[in-house]
Amino acid sequence: MTSFRSTACRISHRGKAFGALAAVVALTGTATAAAAPAAHPGHRGHQPANVILLIGDGMGDSEITAARNYQVGADGRLNLDRLDSTGAYTTYSVRKGTNTPDYVTDSAASGTGWATGTKTYNGAISVDTHGRRKATVLELAQRAGYRTGDVTTAEVQDATPAVLGAHVSDRDCKGPQETSRLCPSDARENGGAGSIAEQLVQTRPDVLLGGGGKYFEQQVTAGRYAGQTVLDQARSRGYFVATTAAQLRTAPRDKPVLGSFAPGNLDLEWVGPTPTHQNTPAARCSVNTHRDASQPHLSTIADVAIDRLDRLSRSGKGAKHGKGFFLQIEGASIDKQDHAANPCGQIGEKVEFDRAVGVALAYQKKHRNTLVIVTGDHGHTSQIVPAGSTTAGVTATLTTADNAPMTISYATASEPGGSQEHTGTQIRVAASGPEAYRVEGVTNQTDLFTTMTKALSISRD
Ligand code: MG
Ligand code: ZN
Repeated sequence: MTSFRSTACRISHRGKAFGALAAVVALTGTATAAAAPAAHPGHRGHQPANVILLIGDGMGDSEITAARNYQVGADGRLNLDRLDSTGAYTTYSVRKGTNTPDYVTDSAASGTGWATGTKTYNGAISVDTHGRRKATVLELAQRAGYRTGDVTTAEVQDATPAVLGAHVSDRDCKGPQETSRLCPSDARENGGAGSIAEQLVQTRPDVLLGGGGKYFEQQVTAGRYAGQTVLDQARSRGYFVATTAAQLRTAPRDKPVLGSFAPGNLDLEWVGPTPTHQNTPAARCSVNTHRDASQPHLSTIADVAIDRLDRLSRSGKGAKHGKGFFLQIEGASIDKQDHAANPCGQIGEKVEFDRAVGVALAYQKKHRNTLVIVTGDHGHTSQIVPAGSTTAGVTATLTTADNAPMTISYATASEPGGSQEHTGTQIRVAASGPEAYRVEGVTNQTDLFTTMTKALSISRD
């Protein structure tokens, strides 16, 4: 169930109107592609074309607002507030085997939405509601000669990075062992394509960075690499493996690089008060002094990834020459700390994610044929409630950059002390660069696939 929004042309690249193209009449919610926009003056024609997609996992409007209030004050603006075009998109998934909406998506279904343009069930990694593999924007870009990158603060086998380069029936099939148990038809020993870890290495983006070392340490069960670890397989596939920020910085320029910086997710940036049923005295967040200093920050990961992909795309031979790149950058633990009801954990990740947005926008300023998109994948729990109040859930109060108290409530856990839940709200989507106008208004998460493939002039077929 793919829905395409009307392509009626509303080009609004910061005050520059490029003239109206033929409007398209949308019938019963399905737009025709009859009047696909012709060359966009000022963009098309000077290659390379690049797409940088920044995903704040669980980054709804509440998460953005809380981080803004805390870090720069209510009247301040974050980097992600400065993009040219802003809209909202719906994030619902569908029930397995049907097209019936499931109003609260997870990161697997939502990621599959923009990665493939297809609605699917919660837990699915780039397979549709009936389990059929769907080609991803990264795979299509790679096939067309673009350089590609997939980077995150989570395990690289986690749902959001996984959707770009793997196809499995269940998001938990991260390594060969989990796959044998949970996704037997995907397992190598049964003739499947293998775990998410193996498939990512097989897809081989030029830059693959994050955590998840414990899955790379597992042994491949069958086929050419049987008995070797997935990391051995990665090296055989040509990867240079970096395990620290320093190694990442000095990785050989001509090789694809796999960064495996932690056994699981990368460490948190910030720490702070734990919310309680009685609220907490107003406090400020502090830097996490227990963070493993050898791990790169997300803004460093973004900087290195963009620099490498830019160089690779300009030095490429043949079809790859001058093609540009596709890169996804995920701030994963906004979601994970929202689940954990940890306001400073959540805001610290969000602030670091915003630094990565700043890195992407600085690149875009010098390379105008780059589409930068900043969005989330689904809503989450945290709510800004009246200062000092208590709720049915747990609350904590932080002192913001305005020197004012901000109380945050977490109240969606189904049992006391349990994990907070995702919510089904629409999500902000913002963009700058070619095709950015497509995010305006209210769209569907799956429409982002079309926006990105248009910017790269690639198609599904
Ligand atoms: Mg994620
Ligand atoms: Zn989540």
